[in-house]
Amino acid sequence: MVTMARHIGLDPNNPQWHRSSTSLSRHLLSALLLTTTITTGVHAYTPLSTCTLQHLTFGPSSDFDIHNGFGSSSLLAPILIPRVPGTEGSRLVQQHFVDFFSSQLPDWTLEWQNSTSTTPATGSQLIPFANLILRRDPPWAKAGNVKRLTLAAHYDSLFRPEGFIGAVDSAAPCAILMAVARAVDGALGRRWEGVMAAKEKREGGGERDAGDGLEDEEGGEEEEEKGVQIVLFDGEEAWERWTNTDSTYGSRALAEAWQSSPYEASSTHSNRLESISLLVLLDLLGAGNPRIPSYFWDTHGAYKDLAKIETRLRKLGVLETAPASPFLPDSEKPYNRFTRGYIQDDHVPFMERGVKVLHIIPTPFPPVWHTMDDDGEHLDLPTVRDWAKIMTVFVAEWMDLDGVLSQESCAAQKEKGSGSMEKDEL
Ligand SMILES: [Zn+2]
Repeated sequence: MVTMARHIGLDPNNPQWHRSSTSLSRHLLSALLLTTTITTGVHAYTPLSTCTLQHLTFGPSSDFDIHNGFGSSSLLAPILIPRVPGTEGSRLVQQHFVDFFSSQLPDWTLEWQNSTSTTPATGSQLIPFANLILRRDPPWAKAGNVKRLTLAAHYDSLFRPEGFIGAVDSAAPCAILMAVARAVDGALGRRWEGVMAAKEKREGGGERDAGDGLEDEEGGEEEEEKGVQIVLFDGEEAWERWTNTDSTYGSRALAEAWQSSPYEASSTHSNRLESISLLVLLDLLGAGNPRIPSYFWDTHGAYKDLAKIETRLRKLGVLETAPASPFLPDSEKPYNRFTRGYIQDDHVPFMERGVKVLHIIPTPFPPVWHTMDDDGEHLDLPTVRDWAKIMTVFVAEWMDLDGVLSQESCAAQKEKGSGSMEKDEL
């Protein structure tokens, strides 16, 4: 139950929102009068130990090369081309995603969700929109019983100006999500193998091995089955100017499709939409000194978890950037400072249907936003790489990957007591 009313320029400190008031722009501020939220239940969220954070391994620095030089295996460079829905550029970028996941992350289920629509700029022609969904569930779990942390970004680029690249909007967020998927892939497999081994042992009458670190504290079967999925949206951008119908073509189609395709009756969740534990939408990331507010009270806890990750990684010297203020400065934001305003983006069709949303988008927008300067050269690559690290740790904590994430074993240190250090210091 959402009433959309436009409140332009609600925040006097936000120049972007002022700009919106004069030129009906892509991200209009709207007001939200209460969403009905799906009860997500209690989920275990386990902060990584200091040892694990110190031993994290991330991908090669070439992940975020902005040119596909000889021998580069950049995740980002192939996305830095115009990729207007239905064009050859769009097809090439889709192929890049498919090649990456099928060659490097074969355990992720790859799925397309297709729709078509006319647009105000293209007359009666039907434009195809194709969302790509990459999913990893516990191997024993029925699809309808899995609650999925859902990470998303849009991969399409603006129709006009012609030749627009959209590096922060949102090539870099897409590449960040690819890097995150690869960074947690092995650990997900190890964790689930451990859980399966423990289950088999229990079922075989064996004793519980409390020392393997993989048992669920709440006691095995009661554990909510947790999976993770990445949604790469098509058609986020408006073709002429941002309206409810000229924007978010892909996400509107996907939210609708997921709501109207039920799981079988015996499932824990009624449909794909309801099986989203949290939608984390990344947008306009990759410029230096971002300031990401906490937009929603009902996901402020997740925001604080993310902010804490940033703080810990900075203290440990894991991040490259050293901004004057943190990327995520709003942990202490009090309840009465949460307004009904939010930024229009791909999360809206989901939020309107009760999905909980963490919107990772800076306010103000980067200065290059929707200009020809939004290209690879204007990215701040240390910021891009730091986002990949912060998001990797968030996914690892959500998926309880402490103990299986780093190749080096932190278990021995933990037994000696140093593993609890972070509780005191952070
Ligand atoms: Zn845009």
